[in-house]
Amino acid sequence: MTEQTPITNDPVILAPGREQRPNVFAGPPCPFCPGAEDQTPPEIARDGQPWRVRVFPNRYPPTEHAEVIVESASHDDSFDELQPDHAALAVALTFDRYRAIEANYVSIFKNHGRLAGASIPHLHSQLVGTSFVPLRAAREGEAFARAARCPLCDVREHPIIAETENYRWIAPRGSRLAYQQWIVPKAHEHDLAEPRELASLLQWSARAMRGISDSFNWAFTTFPHQPRGHWYAELFPRIAMMAGYELGSGTFINTVDPVDAAKLLSDASNPDRPAPEAFARRGA
Ligand SMILES: [Zn+2]
Ligand SMILES: [Zn+2]
Repeated sequence: MTEQTPITNDPVILAPGREQRPNVFAGPPCPFCPGAEDQTPPEIARDGQPWRVRVFPNRYPPTEHAEVIVESASHDDSFDELQPDHAALAVALTFDRYRAIEANYVSIFKNHGRLAGASIPHLHSQLVGTSFVPLRAAREGEAFARAARCPLCDVREHPIIAETENYRWIAPRGSRLAYQQWIVPKAHEHDLAEPRELASLLQWSARAMRGISDSFNWAFTTFPHQPRGHWYAELFPRIAMMAGYELGSGTFINTVDPVDAAKLLSDASNPDRPAPEAFARRGA
């Protein structure tokens, strides 16, 4: 059910049923592990027999179009620990579901770890389709439409962490959160295209972020209705709770300069370097 805020009429999803979802961190058996398939709604897609990746409707859906992608059968895997072809397959399947869900807008995101809002530790991502375009994509879509030049086609002013043939991984200036990153396609694309290199960069980032915090999020902002938009994935480790100023004002206080963030993330994502235990844990 959608409600609207009183003054600016921003959409709010009201989903009281989600109160019932189990907190598997607190002890109940994991419904995403092999052998517990009957604990989830009927499967939409899977890869492999036995399965490596599995998709099913969210049992506690925030909207009527909500799906869960379990990206590994192994309970303790992290995304960066998957074999590269396995990670690429998980991202490609996510793209397939993104295109298949019949909603006005589909959000793709990952909550990894308790501080990131996950209630189940087993590796998974989510898709949530809505009848409205969420506020951020709507505002940014309008800004792209107004801009004389696309602000993401040329990102040279932003610290670059790494790049592949098709993507740049940057720590954008104006990051709202410490160690925030964007993965941006080099070509002007308003919607999802290449999954394999993206999967690699998501793995590099996951490895780097786990050196900073046990918890991290990523979320994609796409512009299916706005060809002048330029899609990107945003990623950030969860260090500090969002506090009164941020939640109350909508403005963020970032405690890490993106130039420093880029250097640390670049070092930490490199498998030839020692595990990044030495990260400064910096919060508000
Ligand atoms: Zn599990
Ligand atoms: Zn662009």
